Amino acid sequence: MSAANLLDFDLDGLAAFCEQLGEKRFRATQLFRWIHQKGASDFEQMSDLAKSLRGKLQGVATLKPLPIISEHVSADGTIKWLFDVGAGNAVESVYIPEDDRATLCISSQAGCAVGCRFCSTGHQGFSRNLTTGEIIAQLWYAEHSLRKRLGQTERVISNVVMMGMGEPLQNYSAVMPALRMMLDDHGYGLSRRRVTVSTSGVVPMIERLKNDCPVALAVSLHAPNDLLRDELVPINRKYPIDELLSACSDYLSAAPRDFITFEYCMLDGVNDTDEHAHQLIDLVRGRISCKFNLIPFNPFPASGLHRSDNARVQAFARILADAGLITTVRKTRGDDIDAACGQLAGEVQDRTNAKGRMTRQPVVVTLIPGAAGRGTPPSN
Ligand code: SAH
Ligand code: SF4
Repeated sequence: MSAANLLDFDLDGLAAFCEQLGEKRFRATQLFRWIHQKGASDFEQMSDLAKSLRGKLQGVATLKPLPIISEHVSADGTIKWLFDVGAGNAVESVYIPEDDRATLCISSQAGCAVGCRFCSTGHQGFSRNLTTGEIIAQLWYAEHSLRKRLGQTERVISNVVMMGMGEPLQNYSAVMPALRMMLDDHGYGLSRRRVTVSTSGVVPMIERLKNDCPVALAVSLHAPNDLLRDELVPINRKYPIDELLSACSDYLSAAPRDFITFEYCMLDGVNDTDEHAHQLIDLVRGRISCKFNLIPFNPFPASGLHRSDNARVQAFARILADAGLITTVRKTRGDDIDAACGQLAGEVQDRTNAKGRMTRQPVVVTLIPGAAGRGTPPSN
């Protein structure tokens, strides 16, 4: 039997695992804290953990970080990591520091089956679901390597958004324990309002999320009517806008915030006219408490789509705002390292095509070689 990856377990899971080893729950809690709060990767580092337990763990348990392929640091402080998930697949995480917060954007799948027209990950197709351990390993690595780098003992990452590669609600069973670990006071201790799941609209799973672990919810709307949304976000053919909005309204009864964030990617001549803005207003006003986040489209070659110009984005935002809808325009971060929304898969493909050579020149590139780059943050 292969050794269990302890990154796969939320606290209850770890307690069950320890119980099989004849250990009490408080031991599991100690172990959990060593892993997630202190970033330990080696049982021998866990000094206050009973020697007997450390002994039992050797051989039956392991802590498996994700091997790192590369790290890119943008001029604006954004950092993008490319992690190897095997069989030629890679996923990305992006760290976005701001004045009042530091957000980590993480991936839930290698590729994505939803196939949105404007999304590079969607064009890539679906490879596989990440495991819980692979999802949390992104946060584990980012948090503890940044603490070390910044010389900090306190928490660095204050917010997590599941807006990287993949559709989190199509990998529900792996995402759920990962969310619990983010929220757990013995883990990353993030509040529910600081953890956001972004979904293209997997309606039945929005309902489940509400019951199981209601974190902040962002919904990728991108179109004000079914005809257009069917084209841009194909899952709309299964769960059309009316059902989606009902699920969003229901979600609000449990949500940590009193609004749903609607993401809207601004595509030149496709969904960005005044008429589209008015349709959006008719769709949501009086029906659901929401905020709009307009995302300037990040182009990639195969999309055949173009970014709306700034004046258009501003005019669109103004129409929504004048109708009383809170509207923000997302700043693009990490543009110089292709870390912006929807660009995340682009480079993976570039790399594959170019046999590992980066085709675009980021500001700082660190290619971390093989075994030396085994994602293990130096312990504190
Ligand atoms: N699958 C989930 C989460 C990952 S995508 C979802 O679709 O919500 C995260 C966000 O990036 C979504 O709002 C998505 O629509 C947006 N996005 C995808 N491709 C983009 C692109 N090329 N430019 C701008 N935003 C994009
Ligand atoms: Fe998948 Fe989200 Fe990209 Fe659509 S936008 S293809 S759901 S990752």
